[in-house]
Amino acid sequence: MFPLQLSRTNQSRIALVRAVLMPVLVTVIIAAIHRTSGGAIIVNAPRDITHQVIVQMIQTAEDGGTNPATAFDNELRFANIESRIDDIWAQAGVDVRILPALSVWQDSFALHGTSSPRDVSDFAEIFARASLAGVLNPDPYVLNMILVDTVPGAFPVGTNTVDGLSFYGRNGMVIAIGENLPLFQAGRDGIAHVVAHEIGHNLGLTHPFGGAVGLSNLMSPNGATEQLTDAQIDAIFGTEARNDDIASIPFGGTGFLRPITTVPEPTSNAAFLWTMCAACLANRRFRRIKS
Ligand SMILES: [Zn+2]
Repeated sequence: MFPLQLSRTNQSRIALVRAVLMPVLVTVIIAAIHRTSGGAIIVNAPRDITHQVIVQMIQTAEDGGTNPATAFDNELRFANIESRIDDIWAQAGVDVRILPALSVWQDSFALHGTSSPRDVSDFAEIFARASLAGVLNPDPYVLNMILVDTVPGAFPVGTNTVDGLSFYGRNGMVIAIGENLPLFQAGRDGIAHVVAHEIGHNLGLTHPFGGAVGLSNLMSPNGATEQLTDAQIDAIFGTEARNDDIASIPFGGTGFLRPITTVPEPTSNAAFLWTMCAACLANRRFRRIKS
């Protein structure tokens, strides 16, 4: 498919860095951060939206509540970043919904750890502490996105840098956003790129092409564009995206992609009744998901 270039903005203000690729415990981290060009969102043509991924934002701060990690700033900028993530995942027919943080999680260790660069094993520790603190979304099919100042395996985030880390097939990502980035479009696009990349890992995608960096693919470390191949899109809906080995999914599950049921417009009384029925089904499905 031909790439669609959705915008071209400031190419120079953003530096998205640091690929983290190293073994930890029983899992190989396939994660990280990407893209030095910044600015444009370049994707393939959108597909009909058939599925949704829900992401829970969790914002950390120091013990006592000071120095909260940079989030998406105000509602307008939040909506803008979410829309850019939607632009990226629309090429797979996937809508991404981000739930705002309900409160600030006061945990200095989660915010920045105790070493620099931060120990990569802190990833598991952050999620263990989050679980104990009860700040993770209770729905195992919601992806948890913990905002920090320093991503495990990296140095503290720069003001114009965004870092991300996740594990293949697990529920969760850790993101560190430079404080300037929410303030300008290229910066918000950089945030969208990294969050979209980490969502890809959570849907089961690895770094393609042997992990080569800077390629025109969302999942390439430091990828030059946000494009996904047809094979990658097939993979997230196929068995490759599922990981039923519970031992390797300590903080969630699989099935992050939820089918979206569309309700047709009523054109007659009969159609209206049918619509009511469809609404009941949708409602039931909603309750099941929430349980
Ligand atoms: Zn990655």
